[in-house]
Amino acid sequence: MTEKQQTVGACLWCDATYMLRRSGGSPHRFCSVACRMSYHRGLRDWAAMEIEKRKLPIKILKQVSQQRTRCKQEASRLTPVTGAPRILESN
Ligand SMILES: [Zn+2]
Repeated sequence: MTEKQQTVGACLWCDATYMLRRSGGSPHRFCSVACRMSYHRGLRDWAAMEIEKRKLPIKILKQVSQQRTRCKQEASRLTPVTGAPRILESN
């Protein structure tokens, strides 16, 4: 993998290239907030249409939602709350 491949990504929504952040967090997939919001709006609209046309069973959507909730709950239980900065009071 070259240095360019490690630092530049292609936006999932508009294909524009952008610099990947190096500060951690969730994977960076969009060049801007506008593209991220457009993606999620399109996803919601598509899912709603598929459900109305009865091509996507609502039970699948519920299962995915419940699974994500369980994963978040398990992650919050496993993540230790250590290393948080302490605020010292000065008198
Ligand atoms: Zn974009």
